[in-house]
Amino acid sequence: MPPYPYGECGACILSPMKNLIQEVRAFAEERDWDQFHTPNNLSMALAVEAAEIMEHFQWLTPDESSDLPAEKRKAVGDEIGDVLMYLIRLADKLGLDPVDVAKQKLEANRKKYPADQVRGSARKYTEYERGV
Ligand SMILES: [Mg+2]
Repeated sequence: MPPYPYGECGACILSPMKNLIQEVRAFAEERDWDQFHTPNNLSMALAVEAAEIMEHFQWLTPDESSDLPAEKRKAVGDEIGDVLMYLIRLADKLGLDPVDVAKQKLEANRKKYPADQVRGSARKYTEYERGV
């Protein structure tokens, strides 16, 4: 087992997410691409990559989408990697910690969708608050 299970990060003890943030930042800097990584460009790149995930599922039945052939599953994984890298790059450029903001949003969603009130329902919170 390598000394650093999440890649080369010297003597640092980083979470996998913080390590990935640094690796993506270094990837851009090594190529002088930081100049292109403005928040507006990154947000558009993120949406494009998310659409590339959707493209793999377009026209599939629900059963087909849940049982992808290995080659297609690998291709979807590649796009998930693209989405994650653009997402953390966008957060990095905005000075946001993606794990912190996700945890904050999850806590807000717990309050918005109390499990004992919404269990088994896909309705939006505005519908159940109105009793719809
Ligand atoms: Mg892609």
